[in-house]
Amino acid sequence: MDKYCVLGNPVEHSRSPWIHARFAQLTGQLLEYGKRLVPLDGFAEAVEAFRAEGGRGCNVTVPFKFQSPALATRLTPRAQLAQACNTLRFDGADVLGDNTDGVGLVDDIRANAGIDIAGRNVLLVGAGGAAAGVLGPLIEAGPHRIVVANRTQPRAADLTRRHGELARRHRVELSAPEIALLQGTFDIIINATASSMSGAGVPVPAGLLKPGALACDLMYGPAAQGFMTWAREHGALPRDGLGMLVEQAAEAFLVWRGIRPPSAQVLAELRASLT
Ligand code: NAP
Repeated sequence: MDKYCVLGNPVEHSRSPWIHARFAQLTGQLLEYGKRLVPLDGFAEAVEAFRAEGGRGCNVTVPFKFQSPALATRLTPRAQLAQACNTLRFDGADVLGDNTDGVGLVDDIRANAGIDIAGRNVLLVGAGGAAAGVLGPLIEAGPHRIVVANRTQPRAADLTRRHGELARRHRVELSAPEIALLQGTFDIIINATASSMSGAGVPVPAGLLKPGALACDLMYGPAAQGFMTWAREHGALPRDGLGMLVEQAAEAFLVWRGIRPPSAQVLAELRASLT
């Protein structure tokens, strides 16, 4: 059986083994998918050990996404832009590094939430691994404007600088002001910070939400509830990160197996099992 796993620290909470086992069942693929807790200073060794055991690929989660490109022999363009990989595929000596987070978020917003991104004003809050992964695919979805706002503003400025050429090609206005200087309202607000994970409040003022805006937190489960309540109380449509989780997994499954699994069905099943 082909072996895959998710590597992270912490990793106990990960739903990825369940999601990939279900994808495999529904597509008739023979594979096993586990999870491995990796010491904070032992990421490269853990990947090598998994490869040596015959592993065919892995997902990479917090806090190793920025370390994974160094282990790849080639990167997809979206991983190059993000400078972070959440997916590695092993083919003999070849190690492909990819980032499926952004496609996962865009697929979830468009296909599962049924909301178009084209022509919209988007606020992306955060400039860590998750924000780096989603900015490129968000630009490619053709919004009118994307504002990236982060607690540490220079990180947001770096991110927008790196994506400047892509934004120009897609005619998307891209900027990175200080959070305190944010103005106007947005059709879509994406919280890609770890604020919900740490129990901190929502890092931007509610006045930035256009009535009926989509307010999406990449976190899911009980930790996302504070953000969801905030969105609902301010007239926005709340969405958590569960759909993105399933959609980024579906894209990784496609990279590994060449087959797109029925992600909407698996998302519905996962949501039902969690409530
Ligand atoms: P990361 O690389 O550690 O980045 C953390 C980001 O959050 C940085 O921008 C940081 O700002 C900001 N931040 C942290 N605490 C904050 C606070 N109290 N107030 C305001 N900003 C704060 O983490 P990450 O990998 O980007 O992950 C971010 C979130 O996305 C996590 O909750 C993670 O679970 C989620 N995620 C979900 C999926 C999914 O499939 N649903 C996929 C990937 C990630 P500074 O730069 O100022 O430190």
